[in-house]
Amino acid sequence: MKQIAVIGIGLIGGSLARDIKKQYPETRILGVDNNPLHLDEALQLGLIDQKASYQDLAEAELVILSIPVDAAVEELPKVLDAVHDTTLVMDVGSTKQRICEAVAQHPKRRNFLAVHPIAGTDFSGPKAALEGLFKGKTNIICEVENTAFKLQEKALSLFADLGMRIRYMNPIAHDKHIAYVSHLSHISSFMLGKTVIEKEKNERDIFDMAGSGFESTVRLAKSSPAMWAPIFKQNKENVIETLEEYIQNLTKFKQFMEADDFEEIYREMKDTNHIADILKGIS
Ligand code: NAP
Repeated sequence: MKQIAVIGIGLIGGSLARDIKKQYPETRILGVDNNPLHLDEALQLGLIDQKASYQDLAEAELVILSIPVDAAVEELPKVLDAVHDTTLVMDVGSTKQRICEAVAQHPKRRNFLAVHPIAGTDFSGPKAALEGLFKGKTNIICEVENTAFKLQEKALSLFADLGMRIRYMNPIAHDKHIAYVSHLSHISSFMLGKTVIEKEKNERDIFDMAGSGFESTVRLAKSSPAMWAPIFKQNKENVIETLEEYIQNLTKFKQFMEADDFEEIYREMKDTNHIADILKGIS
């Protein structure tokens, strides 16, 4: 690839830029971002070779759109308008239904591939970009049949070079499943953090007494609200469904406690220990 563009040079866009630069050192990477400080940082860090704008997209073989999902719905049609007929455009958003709907009728729909790399951290911006973030991680591709075959091949070859495993899914199924395995975990972490902060007004007590269990459980509460609020908005129905089931489980647990039914509490935890076997398959 001679020249590619990354729109949104933060954690995911920046990490992709890093890996692409490593795999294809001859590739020139253009960076587009509405945050000028992030563009400067990305240049300094060597994530991009040059700052750019939508006018430059016509010269790019590949355009990666890596901005919050509400902005992506607005920007993707404009990106497709700006690119060449042979350019591959992909988004990496954490929701897929709205984004696929936004370009369903676009004349360049076949230039677009909807993907969601299941990889990330709780940090954001170009400084958070990590080399090898996607190695061994799953990449979900939606509506592959709506992308031109040659561009599918190009994308698959890139994902293989980055070490990603591919899963195909329709956007509705993607958004439903991801609400359980990702969106609910974030809400649960944010609200656990809130509960502790509200109760333990003395931050030193939290720092001194909270062990690694607390730290790992609230890790996701450090994530960017600018990224997560639009995700919850776009996936509202599925997220509410997961919350209802989660709240039911919490209520049941509380009722067992109130009834001194510790046998049932033991059983609930024992059954859930099965998660260890499931997670073994991922790590
Ligand atoms: P990030 O680190 O905050 O990077 C996003 C970058 O895009 C920031 O520099 C941001 O600037 C900029 N930006 C925001 N709106 C823009 C617009 N309209 N035009 C141009 N630039 C814009 O976010 P991220 O974590 O990389 O997430 C990017 C995408 O990846 C999101 O769609 C997210 O759902 C998806 N994703 C995230 C993860 C994860 O774990 N973080 C995992 C998989 C997929 P400001 O900071 O100034 O707004």
